[in-house]
Amino acid sequence: MRPEDPINEIRTRVDIVDLVRDYVPSLKRAGRNYKACCPFHSERTPSFTVSQDKQIFYCFGCNKGGDIFTFLRDIEGLSFPEAAERLAQRAGVEWKRDRDGALSAREKERTELKKLMTAAAALYSKFLFSSEGKTALAYLRDRQLSDETIERFMLGWAPGGDAPVARELKSRGFSADLLFMAGLASTRDGGRISDYFRERVIFPIRNPAGDVIAFGGRVLDSSEPKYLNSPETVLFPKRRTLYGLYEALPEIRKKGRVAVVEGYMDVIACHQAGASFAVAPLGTALTSDHAHQLSRYSAEITIAFDSDNAGRNAAVRAAEIFMDAGLYVKAADFSPAKDPDELAIKSGAAELEKRLTSGMDPVEFKLRLLAPGGADKLSSQDKARLAAKLLDTVARQRDEIVKSEWLRIIAAKLAVPEEALARQLAKAAPGEYVRPERPAEARADAPPAIELGFLQLLLRNPGLCDHVRELPEEHLSHRDARAVLAAMRAAPAASPAGLAEALAGDSPEAAALVMKLSVQELESESDPASDVIQAAKMITRFARERRWKELKSSMASLDPDQLREFQEITAEIKSSPKKKR
Ligand SMILES: [Zn+2]
Repeated sequence: MRPEDPINEIRTRVDIVDLVRDYVPSLKRAGRNYKACCPFHSERTPSFTVSQDKQIFYCFGCNKGGDIFTFLRDIEGLSFPEAAERLAQRAGVEWKRDRDGALSAREKERTELKKLMTAAAALYSKFLFSSEGKTALAYLRDRQLSDETIERFMLGWAPGGDAPVARELKSRGFSADLLFMAGLASTRDGGRISDYFRERVIFPIRNPAGDVIAFGGRVLDSSEPKYLNSPETVLFPKRRTLYGLYEALPEIRKKGRVAVVEGYMDVIACHQAGASFAVAPLGTALTSDHAHQLSRYSAEITIAFDSDNAGRNAAVRAAEIFMDAGLYVKAADFSPAKDPDELAIKSGAAELEKRLTSGMDPVEFKLRLLAPGGADKLSSQDKARLAAKLLDTVARQRDEIVKSEWLRIIAAKLAVPEEALARQLAKAAPGEYVRPERPAEARADAPPAIELGFLQLLLRNPGLCDHVRELPEEHLSHRDARAVLAAMRAAPAASPAGLAEALAGDSPEAAALVMKLSVQELESESDPASDVIQAAKMITRFARERRWKELKSSMASLDPDQLREFQEITAEIKSSPKKKR
């Protein structure tokens, strides 16, 4: 007979209510669930909920949730294998240390990938200091990087030639499949394995825990692309990863602020000059996911991009994204220097730090960008146009006091009455000033009720996933809702705890959402099959309306295809009967 999976065996023998009670004696029954004040955060009214039916817990106050394994892991500060071992003892299940069967397939894959990435980083670093890396090392030293900095950021060199990195890693026992999965190798014509990074300076990218999860590579000559990043993997969610965050975290925590600069070399230059609270997006635009990620560590952000026009425009956009996430943002630049490197050399480290901790309010920054020669002498029509653009930024500010302060500043600079600006701001329909390409997602922190209800029905009745397989995930407006639906489709038979585990790495918010929806009690559920189909229809309808608004707002610049799409949706909306929302 095949031995039982010890994890499942533990699950059947340890009841979550008993386990939690050992740590939270005040746990009391409330309806179908149990409730108590949360052991993970401080509160006076109980929002910590345990579901005995589903064997999971969730706190409505701090969003922590999981099963017996995550509960013990988090309350005792253990690793997953340690928690599993303790629970095995409690359940009287035989437990062998390091047994592979103890880890889920996903956890095994992540462990293997991490080992591989660590080995690769060490290998790239070895190449940098070998004869093959001579030119690269000279380049880095020429950019004034000290050996200490090179070591701190684990910089390396990927040589050209016949796949030296892939060959070396394979000889150490890593499989070709794992190399492909990690984005370290690819196949060329004829199926020959080749290194993904060739003749590039390597910048290892770490997650906040310090694990190497990806690499950035920069060429030394003028070939394209100048920068190349690892492809997305289970370890590397590109949209939310920030370069330098791990290295910057101690200083970000100490100072309570973070500076966002443009690229790898800017981060390194700032750190070397002593301003070690700088991070950068990975060659892509900043996203609301980045903002969300940073909001965990600091509420005060300075955006400091290069001092050219492209950098300043990007800074304004970035500032608006961070404001949408409810953060306090300042915008700074390095002029007359072009980047932090040059500023530190020309004006000294103290000046660099000053720029990175001060900066202008986004409206002032935008005003200077749009009207570099001053605004008071403009014609009244030009003033009105300029005011509209500035009010777009004001409208995103959530803090009313800051908002009124900004109106005062704009009024003074444009030499127009403040009341006129306030009236103009109030006149705009709510939402009009919000950028169309970032719909509900950036504005609301939680998915809309219709999407929550829809997912809750599916979580309660996983069989119904089949009824709504036509619904594209993109029709859901909120990223967490999309992630949950995708996870359910990928593993239709998974329990809520299993889904949450699958989601935890890339999207902890979506994992928490699964737990939250699973412990919540449903009001009524007369006909779940028809309810879920109805909900899917409404979600699609809202998605079409969002798209329509988006197209309408950029009416002037639509291409013929988009125009046709706009007309189609317009006809569709007109012909379908208005439903009650
Ligand atoms: Zn809590």
